[in-house]
Formats: sequence, structure tokens, C-alpha cells
Amino acid sequence: MSGYEAVIGLEIHAQLLTESKIFCGCSTRFGAEPNTQTCPVCIGMPGVLPVLNRRAVEFTIRTGLALNCTIASYSRFARKNYFYPDLPKGYQISQYELPLCRDGHLEIHAGGVRRRVGITRIHLEEDAGKNIHQKDSSLVDLNRAGVPLMEIVTEPDIRTPTEAAAFMKKLRNILRYLDVCDGNMEQGSLRCDANVSVRPAGSTGLGTKTEVKNINSFRFVEKALAYEIRRQMRVLEEGGRVVQETRLWDPAAGVTVSMRTKEEAQDYRYFPEPDLVPLEVGEEWIEEIRSTLVELPDKKRERFMSEYGLPEYDAEVLTEERAVADWFEEAVRLGGSPKAVSNWMMTELSRLLNETGREIADAPITPAHLVSLLKLIEEGTISGTIAKTVFEEVFRSGREPEVIVREKGLVQITDTGEIERLVDDVLSANPAEVERYRKGEAKLLGFFVGQVMKASKGKANPKLVNELLRRKLS
Ligand code: ADP
Ligand code: MG
Ligand code: ZN
Repeated sequence: MSGYEAVIGLEIHAQLLTESKIFCGCSTRFGAEPNTQTCPVCIGMPGVLPVLNRRAVEFTIRTGLALNCTIASYSRFARKNYFYPDLPKGYQISQYELPLCRDGHLEIHAGGVRRRVGITRIHLEEDAGKNIHQKDSSLVDLNRAGVPLMEIVTEPDIRTPTEAAAFMKKLRNILRYLDVCDGNMEQGSLRCDANVSVRPAGSTGLGTKTEVKNINSFRFVEKALAYEIRRQMRVLEEGGRVVQETRLWDPAAGVTVSMRTKEEAQDYRYFPEPDLVPLEVGEEWIEEIRSTLVELPDKKRERFMSEYGLPEYDAEVLTEERAVADWFEEAVRLGGSPKAVSNWMMTELSRLLNETGREIADAPITPAHLVSLLKLIEEGTISGTIAKTVFEEVFRSGREPEVIVREKGLVQITDTGEIERLVDDVLSANPAEVERYRKGEAKLLGFFVGQVMKASKGKANPKLVNELLRRKLS
């Protein structure tokens, strides 16, 4: 079904990392007993008044600046009216026609294409509670009601499911760099509605779109969009028309299903929130926030390439997470060679973090440990193979590499006499291979090296092993 192209725009909800809710002092902590973090304001008692959380505004401005937005000096909250059991007031306070941030952009890199995705707007709103459906009853937990959310809306600039996932990933990294959202998609701190339409390739108009609601993983963004694009193309191929509707992704079945059509869409009867004054943000405050912005992933990646001479791939991987980038820079500051530090981080460290499900910040191994280990390798005290074992031990225990090497007797064997004995043993145990080598099968050298290294439990100096083997076999 070539001949068509997809057009995608995302609406992303990010839960802000404030301590308290957006209009009251209740805690936002995740996982508390149901309804223990509530008060008359967030459970919608009559006669109460909301008070805006200054930190939530600051976080949204910080995000807006990082995404190249214009920050509105004047914005306003509105009431979005609808009835649902998890919305005790009967309306959600949100920003509607005057959002806090607009007209930004974010550049993504996916499938060999660089693309600038426009950010239409970022606005602030409150989250709703959560309905818990049981066998013959339903319960409502209002701990989440009033938790501050940022809604980030993109222009319809995205063209493929891969680009949509790349956008989500990059945005998540930036939000985590900025410390405004933990990006935990499983807990719902970051979720996305994906809007998509298809059109004849090369045309500029927009087709009728559908919206896939509440996607909570990168993989699902890709899968749901791929499914939806195929479905829409098939409808057009068969001469039909795409119906504008909201759909849901069913991960188990791998399909999207219709939730409601445009005709069934609600009219929210938005009107300005009478209990809150308009939000005025002074230039000074914006500049103060701008001056404390951290270096973002794109800039850091460029700097890692120019300052440390790292290949683009290394720089990209090391700057995705701020904690990882900081770890790298600390190791280099302590004297580690940038490429060696990078190699260890991208292989052994990353593997062990994955296996143990740990974050780099709470792994027992420190940059200082890695630098000590690199020194032991450089000085020839331990071989590269042994170093991997030591690294793993340090990773698990947080003990000093030198101590582990000493305790376990892992010091590299550089005594020629000792290595010679091992070489002789291996050669006399494998007479057939020796014969074949001497007849010209040069690649068998690797086999002999392996056998000697094994016999030395990885401790023999590989260079000496190679030299001795060559001499004895020639
Ligand atoms: P709605 O009023 O249905 O919420 P909006 O105009 O607010 O629609 O846009 C919501 C999201 O849908 C935005 O991310 C926007 O880029 C995207 N979008 C709008 N029109 C289309 C379209 N025809 N195809 C794909 N995405 C679209
Ligand atoms: Mg919308
Ligand atoms: Zn409250």
C-alpha cells in the first residue's frame, strides 16, 4: 500500500515532580493507601478554593524553555466540564485558549532522518482520580486527583511510528534531565495520545485523523500507530472513508478498537475558571529559570564528541541519561581515558545494570572504582579478561578493585618460566593440532592461546603467551 504516507501528532501527558498537588497541599507520592492523600479541595467539596502551586508553573516554564517555546506572560485556567466518578468536582481545571507555552520545537533523529517537530503548546492541568473496577462493585481512589500534569501537544509533523517513538524517548530524556517528570511510563507518569491520518504521498492536505488514547510504552506507540496506519490505508484502498474517532490500543490482541466517534464526542463547555486569577509571568522570572537550565542531551552529545573525542554513537548513548553522563565525566575527571571509560560503560556496566534492574546512581560501583580498575589493566597487573570478573565483583559489592585482586590472587602471570610450563603442557596435550599447525593451519594459534589462558585461569599475560607459542611452534 505504498502511495500513501502517514501524518502523526502527539498529545503527551507528563506528571510533574512537585511534592504537592496543583491546587492544594496534599502529597503526590505514588503508591499510598487509597484516599489517604486527599483534602476538601482535591475531593471537590463545595465552598473550597484552589491555590496554584508555584513550583508546577516553574516546571512548565522550564520545560517550555527547553523545548524552544514562547512563554506567555498572560495565561488563564479554564473549566473543562464533564461527569465521571473519578472527577469529584464535575470539571477539570485545565488551560484552554491561553496556554503557558507555545510555538516550540524539538529535533529528532530516527531511521536516518533528522526532523524538526513543532510543539504547538504546553499547558498545565490537574489529573483525575482512578476508578478501580471489581467483580460487582467499583471503587474510586482520589490520591491522584489534583496531581499536576503538563500536556505537551505537537504539530502534525511526525511521519512514521518509529519517529513517534523516537520523539517520545527524546522528550522523556529531556524531562528527566530537567527534573520535572520521572518519565515512569509503567506508573503512568508519562503517557501519550497518538493522532494519525494518512494521505496520498506528496500531497499537503490533511486526511481525517483518529486518536489512539492512553498509550503507556514506546513499543505500544509504534505498534498502535503501525496498526492504525495499515487500517486507515486499507479503508481508503477499498474506497471507504476514515471516520474521525477515538480508539483504544488493545495490547493483548494487537489491534486498536473504536471507543467513540466524533458525533459522540462531548462538548466540554469550557469557560474561564472563576476561582483563579489569570496567571501573569514576569520576564525576570522567566530569565531566572532560563539561567538555571541544565545542559540538554543534544548539546552534551556535541560536547562529548568535541571535548573527549568520542564517536557519535558513544556520545549519543552516554548522554541519553543525565546520571550516566555525569558518571562518565566524573570517571574522566579522575583520570580515566575517555574511550576506555566509554567502552566499559557501554558494555559491562550497561549489561550489569540491565541484568540487575538498577539505576546507575544506586549501583555500588563508582567512577573511582572504574578508574582504579583501568589503572590495574594499564600497569599489567591484571589482564582484560580478569578485569571483567573484577568489574562484576566491584559492581555487586562496591569493594575496591585492588583489594579483590589481592584477595583472590588474580594478579597477572608475567613470569616467563611459569607461562612456558603452561605452553609446554598445552602443546604436549594436543599433538594432532600441533601437527596441523605446522602443516600450515595458522588459525590454530588462537586455539592454543585459548587453551593456555584457560589453564592459567585467565591470568597469563596474553602477549607473552602469544610470543612463547609462536616461538615453540615455529
Ligand atoms: P482535537 O481538536 O481533535 O484535539 P487538535 O487540533 O487539538 O485536535 O490536535 C490534536 C493533535 O492531533 C495534535 O497533536 C495535532 O498535531 C494532531 N493532528 C491534528 N490534525 C491531524 C491530522 N489530520 N492528522 C494527524 N494528526 C493531526
Ligand atoms: Mg485533542
Ligand atoms: Zn488535596
